[in-house]
Amino acid sequence: MFDDDQNIKAIREGIKALCLKFPNEYWREKDRTRTYPTEFVKALSDQGYLGCLIPEEYGGSGLKLSAAAVILEEIHNSGGNGAACHAQMYIMGTLLRHGSDEQKKRYLPGIAEGSLRLQAFGVTEPGSGTDTLALKTTARKDGDSYIINGQKVWTSRAEHSDLMLLLARTTHRDKVEKRTNGLSVFIVDMRGTIGKELTIRPIRTMVNHATTEVFFDELRVPQENLIGEEGKGFRYIIDGMNAERILIASECIGDSRWFIKKATAYANERIVFDRPIGMNQGIQFPIAQAYAETEAAALMTEKAALLYEDEKRLGAEANVAKLLASAASWKAAEACMQTHGGYGFAEEYDVERKYRETRLYQIAPISTNLILSYIAEHVLGLPRSY
Ligand SMILES: Cc1cc2nc3c(=O)[nH]c(=O)nc-3n(C[C@H](O)[C@H](O)[C@H](O)COP(=O)(O)OP(=O)(O)OC[C@H]3O[C@@H](n4cnc5c(N)ncnc54)[C@H](O)[C@@H]3O)c2cc1C
Repeated sequence: MFDDDQNIKAIREGIKALCLKFPNEYWREKDRTRTYPTEFVKALSDQGYLGCLIPEEYGGSGLKLSAAAVILEEIHNSGGNGAACHAQMYIMGTLLRHGSDEQKKRYLPGIAEGSLRLQAFGVTEPGSGTDTLALKTTARKDGDSYIINGQKVWTSRAEHSDLMLLLARTTHRDKVEKRTNGLSVFIVDMRGTIGKELTIRPIRTMVNHATTEVFFDELRVPQENLIGEEGKGFRYIIDGMNAERILIASECIGDSRWFIKKATAYANERIVFDRPIGMNQGIQFPIAQAYAETEAAALMTEKAALLYEDEKRLGAEANVAKLLASAASWKAAEACMQTHGGYGFAEEYDVERKYRETRLYQIAPISTNLILSYIAEHVLGLPRSY
């Protein structure tokens, strides 16, 4: 994707070189022990990749979303996983577009140099995953602060972050004019609060994702940490979510390319009945199909990223890109697993690890059903179903 641009080509080459230092053995070990890839995140940060979206005046490289997309695509294409750090890139969309100059001055230089981590995104709650507007965590005004109470779940990387971008309710659901009003976004500085007003509990999952549940008990957040206007947070967070969908789509494209490469190599080398299994069209066609679907999804992802960069309306494109790319990577994963036969299940081939990892994207950050509902309602004009 995006390779007409020389900068992007250079970024792609730079990331490829960096990823060579973190081979499959590295990711396998992190997966086996469910450990955060601290060394990898540090290397990305030290080389400026994690600050790529931060404007130059705040110490970043001032690149566009397409640069972030290529960085994540290449990480996944190398066999690695960007989930340890991708949130910093998409959360940035909300801060950059809706944060005040003062907030940007306070946080961005530290994030750009790697001394401050903005990796946690607190939206989902036990009773509100798909139905974000049902969230119950409250932010109550108290003098020049807000007091946060409630619970988030699936807050990934909370233990590896200094800051959390939090969506909380500032006006009761029954008292808002529009259903999307009444939620506000805060930058929560978690340092010094853990084990006191903030409790973080890890959740062990089928992938190495450093995800957690987070409990807020009378956590005080200064008013200056409110992003934009009180009650308009859902709109601000949607900007971040569209960026997230595009970036997750790029990770899926990277995964898909990894599976296709891996399946093709194995199909060429594995001899059964005295000939390579890749001679059988039953082996070739699923890989070829996954290739075609990946290329189409990559074009859609590129289109969505370019619309995002132009600040145009892009809800439809971001959703379609995520839908197609996650479907393509899952198809490629299936083809790769099937091509490997029993060996696909062996840890040392990395297929089962990547297979588990790419499955997540059918569900998070938004599930396939909900994207289809979005397209039906907002693009095709069909009645709202929920
Ligand atoms: C590993 C992992 C990491 C995550 N990281 C984060 C994070 O960092 N921050 C964060 O805020 N969240 C995070 N999430 C949460 C993720 O965004 C949610 O899991 C996702 O939005 C789905 O919500 P849910 O799990 O509550 O599913 P539910 O809302 O309970 O839905 C269950 C199923 O029902 C379907 N469904 C629901 N309503 C409808 C309908 N009207 N029509 C058709 N189908 C429907 C859904 O599509 C889904 O398949 C993470 C999740 C996982 C698994």
